[in-house]
Amino acid sequence: MSDTLQLDKRQRAMLAEMGVRVWTPIEQAPEIHNAGPSTIQTKKSQTTTAYQAAVNATATVAVKPTDFEVITQTANNLDWLGLREAVTSCQACGLCTSRRNVVFGTGSHVSTPDTKNEIQPVDWLIVGEAPGENEDAEGEPFVGQAGQLLDNMLRAMQLSRTGEFLNAPKPAQSIFVTNVLKCRPPGNRNPAPEEVAQCMPYLERQIALLQPKIILAMGRFAAQALLRNSIDKVEAIPLGKLRGQVHRLGNTPVVVTYHPAYVLRNLPEKAKLWADACLAMATLNTTQL
Ligand code: SF4
Repeated sequence: MSDTLQLDKRQRAMLAEMGVRVWTPIEQAPEIHNAGPSTIQTKKSQTTTAYQAAVNATATVAVKPTDFEVITQTANNLDWLGLREAVTSCQACGLCTSRRNVVFGTGSHVSTPDTKNEIQPVDWLIVGEAPGENEDAEGEPFVGQAGQLLDNMLRAMQLSRTGEFLNAPKPAQSIFVTNVLKCRPPGNRNPAPEEVAQCMPYLERQIALLQPKIILAMGRFAAQALLRNSIDKVEAIPLGKLRGQVHRLGNTPVVVTYHPAYVLRNLPEKAKLWADACLAMATLNTTQL
């Protein structure tokens, strides 16, 4: 016997006038996992719609790739020019809303329009953390005082990120300079872990295409991003303990050092920056023997 009162419209209106509430059970949705296709087809209107919505929602949750997976899959198939375009138009994290320019990176071998899609293996890859105010304004990594310090150091190493020295022959070794994050965190705050995670596929694709012989990681976040799969709990290790030795990213040697902006605030650390650069030079020379 059904527990449901069989009331017509007029009787319900009367009970409502008397302040008596009558609950009407809504039609029960079928058990999603037990209902077969024939059951679905015999149900009408709301029930079928609700079921289908539930199925769609379940299917969407099950197969929808994350933004990170989409970026990784996409970036893995891009050539240099395609990668640059993907990064330039990227909106995968919130930094896209406050950036003025995306900072893809610059290098001696890809500095002219004629050669921007011709990728040759590069000797050096220098990786900083994220664009600051000046980098965001100019769309280039390492500009301003930190950039000058880097350029001075590179000059002492017989390197140039523009590929040319004034009144001097072209440097023998090629170099590309970029950051972990391609967009500026507002107020120069530290990169958030999720921002680093979203942006890493681009750096990983840059590394795959550039095939650097050595990577110089400048700053804590660059070191953590590049060594996260090589060193357990790398985020808990102070940068001072990571520098001064040669790490590995796959087969590529990685030397960690201080970020030039940090050195400008802590000038006694300049000697360590130079010592790490010398270690990287010696490592590269050894691998080329
Ligand atoms: S920081 Fe990286 S992931 Fe975020 S919007 Fe810029 S390019 Fe995309």
